[in-house]
Amino acid sequence: MKQIYNFSAGPAVLPKEVLIQAKDELLNYANSGMSVMEMSHRSKVYETILQEAKQDLRDIANIPDNYEILFIQGGASLQFSMVPMNLIKNGKADYFVTGQFAKKAYEEAKLFLDAKVVASSKEQNFTTIPDVANVEIREDADYVYICENNTIYGTKFKELPNTKDIPLVADVSSCFLSEPIDITKYGLLFAGAQKNIGPSGVCVVIIRKDLIREETFNPTPTMLKYKTYADHDSMYNTPPTYTIYMCGKVFKWIKEQGGLVALQKRNSDKAKLLYDAIEQSNLFKCPVDPNYRSIMNVPFVTGNEELDAKFIKEAKEAGLENIKGHRSVGGMRASIYNAMPLDGIQTLVAFMHDFEEREGKIHV
Ligand SMILES: *Cc1c(COP(=O)(O)O)cnc(C)c1O
Repeated sequence: MKQIYNFSAGPAVLPKEVLIQAKDELLNYANSGMSVMEMSHRSKVYETILQEAKQDLRDIANIPDNYEILFIQGGASLQFSMVPMNLIKNGKADYFVTGQFAKKAYEEAKLFLDAKVVASSKEQNFTTIPDVANVEIREDADYVYICENNTIYGTKFKELPNTKDIPLVADVSSCFLSEPIDITKYGLLFAGAQKNIGPSGVCVVIIRKDLIREETFNPTPTMLKYKTYADHDSMYNTPPTYTIYMCGKVFKWIKEQGGLVALQKRNSDKAKLLYDAIEQSNLFKCPVDPNYRSIMNVPFVTGNEELDAKFIKEAKEAGLENIKGHRSVGGMRASIYNAMPLDGIQTLVAFMHDFEEREGKIHV
């Protein structure tokens, strides 16, 4: 099989070991004579898969007992509306707008309550994160919302806003499980699986139990209430069984890697290698404020669109796939999630070096 490195922002690279295991188990899971895809979600075998996935996630992310883990379909995007529908009390919520996904969440919240932008990095083209210390949060806000890692722009909150007693809600889709995390700082956090957890099809929601309420926006459909998922262990209806099985495999893989402390070290080393290469180059630049750079999504540009296009094309030919930046920002972006091996970054950096040798002198 052709060796490639997949820098896609999502659906993204999965650990090879996990894919091989899934392949081995595809037709006959644990001697059941069936594929996991064919199993009843109410069967004993599947029940074990779901419970193990939850427990392994609880272990690796150090999730306290007063937090519930929910598996919900509809991607991270459905949470943009489930959050306001379920957390509404006074009818106010404060939003940090640090990119497109935060903006979408804010727009969606406006359908249900008085949503306010308390800080934004729009003026800086989302290349930075507002200083969280100077942001005024309404005392009667039902929650404060951030998108912790901005997948499209490559920025990350390095410090969380101090919201005091107001629950902090975070979209952690593209940074979840990339480093240790203090769950107790959040009221609710959610992550679409297809970035750093597994295949697409499920969103992991971690919610403090006191925030799971019967009283929600009126009306809230049953399937959009966190309580429905909590009361039925994410099995009120048929969950995305195969996706959850794959996520469970990734959680076990993370344990084998030494957990989030080990992954943080590996991820930081990988990101440093790439950022250093960009800094040392005369051709490539990273537009992101050095104080807020993501270790998961690394955007860079040459400053010349044609040259960017040439780079992307030749990178693909060299087996470096999906290096194109998001359509709204252009340039390049390397998403280097947990499953991207160090080799992948080394190959990319070597390719960038070659490309600069060939092209840099002509264009700069
Ligand atoms: C990808 C992404 C989303 C959208 O996820 P879907 O599962 O496609 O709805 C939302 N937020 C962030 C931070 C993302 O990276």
